[in-house]
Amino acid sequence: MKIGVLAMQGAFAEHIAILNSLGVEAVEVRRVDQFDELAGLIIPGGESTTMLKLGDIYNINEQIKSSASKGMPIWGTCAGAILLAAEVTNTGPNMPVGLGLMRMTVRRNAFGRQVDSFEVKLPVEGLGCEPFPAVFIRAPLIENVLPPAEVMARLGNGTIVAVRQGNMLATSFHPELSLDARFHRYFIGVAETYLAQKPN
Ligand code: GLN
Repeated sequence: MKIGVLAMQGAFAEHIAILNSLGVEAVEVRRVDQFDELAGLIIPGGESTTMLKLGDIYNINEQIKSSASKGMPIWGTCAGAILLAAEVTNTGPNMPVGLGLMRMTVRRNAFGRQVDSFEVKLPVEGLGCEPFPAVFIRAPLIENVLPPAEVMARLGNGTIVAVRQGNMLATSFHPELSLDARFHRYFIGVAETYLAQKPN
C-alpha cells in the first residue's frame, strides 16, 4: 500500500517519516500522474494560500477533487484542513478558493500569532481512551460542521479541532509532530478499507 503526502510546500517530511515507521510506503506527491497508485493522500500543514496557488498551477487541486469524488481517503492537517473546507473565514485578501470537499467552516489563524502555538491532551473519537497530544501551530479552528461531516475532537472550551466526513479527515493540529502514531494508524486503516473495496 502506498500513501501520498502532498509535497509542494509545508510539513510533508514528518508525515512521511511516521508512515515509514509504521511500515507503510509513503511518497512525496507533486504530479497528477502519481495519484492512480495511491491508497490515500495527506495534505500537510504549511501555508494554505501558497499551497492553493501551487496546486492550481500544477492541476493538483482538480486532481484531488476528482480522487475524492471516487472515495480516495484524504486527510488535511492544519493548512491541509483549510484546503478541504467548504467555507473559509479570515482568509486575507489573496486567498484563492479552496477545494470545498468537507462540509465545515474553518477560520484561519484562529488562535493568534505564531507564538501562540501550544500543545494539549485531547480526547479523540475513534482513537481509544488515552488523550492525544495535539500540537497547534498558528492553527485554524473549525467554526461549524454540517452532516455528513462529524466532529471527532473538541478542545475543553468546545472548539472543534478534528472532523471526519466519509473517507476524509481534517485536523486543526499536527499529529505528525507528536510522538504518538495513533492518528496515522487510524488513517492507514481508512486507506486499507478503501483499497479492499476499490474496483481495479
Ligand atoms: N496559518 C497557516 C495558514 O493559514 C496554517 C498553519 C499550519 O499549517 N501550521 O495557512
